[in-house]
Amino acid sequence: MFKQLVNECVIDLHIRPDGPVLIKSGIATVSGPDMAFVTVLRNGDWEVYLPGSSLKGVLRSHAERIARTFTPEAACDPFAKKDDPEPSCSACFDKRKDEGENGLDTPTAYRDSCLICQLFGSTWMAGRLATTDAYAVGEPSQPQRRDGVGIDRFTGGTAYGAKFELEVITEGTFATTLHLRNFELWQLALVGFLLQDLKDGLIRIGMGKSRGLGKARGEVKDVRLDFLGPKAPQIDDGHLPLRGVGSLFDEAEAYGITTPDEISVPFEGELTSNGVRTTAIFPLDSFPWAQIAERWVNRVQGYSMPEAMRRYRGGGRR
Ligand SMILES: [Zn+2]
Repeated sequence: MFKQLVNECVIDLHIRPDGPVLIKSGIATVSGPDMAFVTVLRNGDWEVYLPGSSLKGVLRSHAERIARTFTPEAACDPFAKKDDPEPSCSACFDKRKDEGENGLDTPTAYRDSCLICQLFGSTWMAGRLATTDAYAVGEPSQPQRRDGVGIDRFTGGTAYGAKFELEVITEGTFATTLHLRNFELWQLALVGFLLQDLKDGLIRIGMGKSRGLGKARGEVKDVRLDFLGPKAPQIDDGHLPLRGVGSLFDEAEAYGITTPDEISVPFEGELTSNGVRTTAIFPLDSFPWAQIAERWVNRVQGYSMPEAMRRYRGGGRR
């Protein structure tokens, strides 16, 4: 995205099934961004893990739902093609290119994308948020086989009466790390909303989640903030100025990023610095998400689709 890294938020997260999470079945998998568990050979045993790309997909679709409750046009449908009435941001850029528009560089792609593409990326630009694969902590969870009794409840009846087996996991702890790089404060705040919903069990994982399976809970272990370069903040009277990319990156305005982008939060810990990186660590639930929440709310409520995209996206009607 940018040539240099100016800030990064690293979130260590534990995810636990809260009831059966379907990892495998005889049913053709549902389309869309499902978070399917898969197995990998690790330490000599087959072990269940959660691919980071699947986790990111689930977080993305939840973020889209949150955004649309505020402002429908703030989130495109990333699966919508060029011929659909409301193409995705990527498809809109493809059309702009097809029509001979010049100057479709990365700043333009960022500036004109919907808020969700700005955070999660698209075929036109890398996202700010990355998720690692989630591996079992301690004893790996053993998948359990269950037969298909009652399966019609969540296959919608298409496989009614068919004989097949399911594999589920019902316990275990999976550790993953979210990396948010070169973020704006509203993006960090939106991640806070996602973490809260994960904690509250509102984000389902695995297959069959639309049918009530896949309840899980996420727990933040710690949040680390890194600032790089000469504009890294210092503690001032028990407060830490959190700086988004708009306060750290000189060319931010070309990307349509708000400048300055800073909010002061109470911080009781100590900053450490190795001369390159200034680091603040917030253990467990101590990160002040509530204090930055309004950055997301204001950004999404005030969102208006750029005219260059409105020509193709139809004004966010859905
Ligand atoms: Zn988009």
